[in-house]
Amino acid sequence: MAWREVRWPEGVYCVACGSHDVECRTSSYRGHLRRYHCLACDKWFSDVTDTTLAHSKVDLPRWFYLLRELDKGRPISQIQPEIGVTYKTALRMARIVREALYEHRDQWRSLLQGEVEADDIHVKGGQQGRQVTHREPRERGLKERGRGTYEGDRPLLCAWVARDGPGTLLELRRDAGKHALFDSAWRHIEPGSRIDTDTWSGYNLLDAAYEHHSVKHSEQYVTAEGVHCNTAEAEWSIFKPWWRQFRGVAKRHVYQYLIQYEFKRTYRDRSAPERWEMMLGFLYVFLTRWLGFPADGYSSLPVH
Ligand SMILES: [Zn+2]
Repeated sequence: MAWREVRWPEGVYCVACGSHDVECRTSSYRGHLRRYHCLACDKWFSDVTDTTLAHSKVDLPRWFYLLRELDKGRPISQIQPEIGVTYKTALRMARIVREALYEHRDQWRSLLQGEVEADDIHVKGGQQGRQVTHREPRERGLKERGRGTYEGDRPLLCAWVARDGPGTLLELRRDAGKHALFDSAWRHIEPGSRIDTDTWSGYNLLDAAYEHHSVKHSEQYVTAEGVHCNTAEAEWSIFKPWWRQFRGVAKRHVYQYLIQYEFKRTYRDRSAPERWEMMLGFLYVFLTRWLGFPADGYSSLPVH
């Protein structure tokens, strides 16, 4: 089982003394867990000893089922009756999974590079995404965009999408000024990369660190030099139906949903089981850390 590979990548060791001299006494404990006996110190333990799961009423198969269904993009309201926990518990479980993905984002994300496209939408009231007025006259477009703030009801969601390769990054910004956009680019895109945007002035600062090209959308989609944002715009057509399922996401939770989307999109070329395995790994680190158990193994436990 995947969990065992995550927890014991270098083989089972005793949770009390660290010895690898352990024997597996029953292959099935509580249905799916193994139980071990340490020959060095006589301690009994299981696959979940010293993890949150040992105290949780939610067993591993349920966690695993939830991971799998979340990866499909299904909302909790649908998954909850299938795993037989309360809605509140299911929601908490989903938040833990998403938070684990968020906490470990630097491990699975890498800087976008090569040719990158930018595009932005306002997410109305933390709900369904609405396209910015790209096709409307320029003056009006500028006015509309400048007003969208996090505090208002239309926070700006910007997307950086690598043209070749799976890198996709969505970020909810507190404000939509050019400094905020540059900051976002700087943290997520390799300096020197090419970035294609539309002619909105919010992207102006990108020139300082990137090969920045823009296309005036009121006139054309692709310039003669091949500048376009079609890949980024296509991303919205994938994002919006996915987003629409989660009606009424509170603003403070939006980042959790974005990170889940981003993870799936970034690893879309991998098989679903490979994504589950990764998620399970992050979940394990996250859950066990809560108990103060070091995720990187026994060696960092204090020696008595
Ligand atoms: Zn032992």
